[in-house]
Amino acid sequence: MPATSIPLARRAAGLVGSVIDSSTSLLAGQAHDIVRFAMGAPGDDLIPTGLFDRYYGEPSPGKYGYGATEGEPALVEQILALVRGRGVESAAERITVTTGGMQGLDLACKVFVDPGDLVVVEGPTYTNGNSTALSYGADLLQAPLDEHGLVVERLPDLVKRAGRTPRAIYTIPNFQNPSGATLSAKRRERLLSLAEQWGSVIIDDDPYGLLRFQGTEVPGFSQLAPRHPLVFSVRTFSKILAPGLRVGWVDADPELRQLLINAKQVMDTCTAVPTQRMVTRFLQEGHLDGHLARVSGLYRARKDAMLDSLHRHFGEDVHSTDPEGGFFLWLTFTGRYADIDTQQLFEVALRHGVAYIPGPAFSTDGSFTNALRLCFATSAPDRIEEGVARLRRAADAMAGGRA
Ligand code: PMP
Repeated sequence: MPATSIPLARRAAGLVGSVIDSSTSLLAGQAHDIVRFAMGAPGDDLIPTGLFDRYYGEPSPGKYGYGATEGEPALVEQILALVRGRGVESAAERITVTTGGMQGLDLACKVFVDPGDLVVVEGPTYTNGNSTALSYGADLLQAPLDEHGLVVERLPDLVKRAGRTPRAIYTIPNFQNPSGATLSAKRRERLLSLAEQWGSVIIDDDPYGLLRFQGTEVPGFSQLAPRHPLVFSVRTFSKILAPGLRVGWVDADPELRQLLINAKQVMDTCTAVPTQRMVTRFLQEGHLDGHLARVSGLYRARKDAMLDSLHRHFGEDVHSTDPEGGFFLWLTFTGRYADIDTQQLFEVALRHGVAYIPGPAFSTDGSFTNALRLCFATSAPDRIEEGVARLRRAADAMAGGRA
């Protein structure tokens, strides 16, 4: 047989995928019991499956046909009511329904980012955001993040050193993935003015904002600067309802609307109509507020349970963030575990029956080697306790060289 090689586009080198998404199939292939702190997913018990099953079974003309690329009109109407209820004035011509938040990120990069363009990202940030920008050939500029989110004050200096202004700034303002940090109002305002100064688009990715369980709300970019042409908002029902629905939306300047439709038409024509209608019915029947109140209370209990277990099992040998909402804790090993490499620990932890995402997955340069992300949303408190106990045993096995 002659040696053959399959010719690839140069772009293929930028398709680096996602350690997070790959964990789903990795875990599906495991035969033993594993406590799942890896995927950022709502617990099965917190998904309103009874209602969804009912809606799915309801006869509805055209349900199995193609839908409008921009989204089902009734869903757009419900999305507008939802955001209006949170103090955001949008309009139908600003909304494009997407196949999850991921498609919103993809659309943003597709319409704004050329190969070689600079994109500012938070360090650490959501793996898939980095991967999406890389798939369009972006040069990523990782900016630091602290307990008040992206350290916006550092950006002018970083950008000066990079020698060019960014085309886009990718930020997750509320209960950031993976750190749980929330960007302060002052920094949001400063970011808006830097974006104006540089002509950069703010990719405002906010899947968790409606899942606040303590503290006080911080105004969003669209409240601070209503209908700002440089703010591109990516939203999803994945975290507030169910990720398998694959329904999200983009709220962006109407000038971009036809472009977004054109781009989406060559991706998937339209988002699946049956799931759009399920979300529509859920919103029309007025279930969202009650659902959010219920799940937020449970997420707070799960976050507290996880912090409590971490404290009991690791004491001072681990530092954790303490988010006011969302799904994630960001853990940094200190003390006797300070040298642990969380990528190596992953295999050991998996054998011990617990899964998480290692820190380097959230960086552009392999940093955060002694950090990791834990999702507290998926498991009930007793499972969380079990998972943290297993993590401690795995860390001891590593630290003691008995891995
Ligand atoms: N952005 C962030 C910050 C996320 O955490 C996620 C989901 N993990 C997404 C976007 C993608 O959302 P979806 O599952 O709706 O595509």
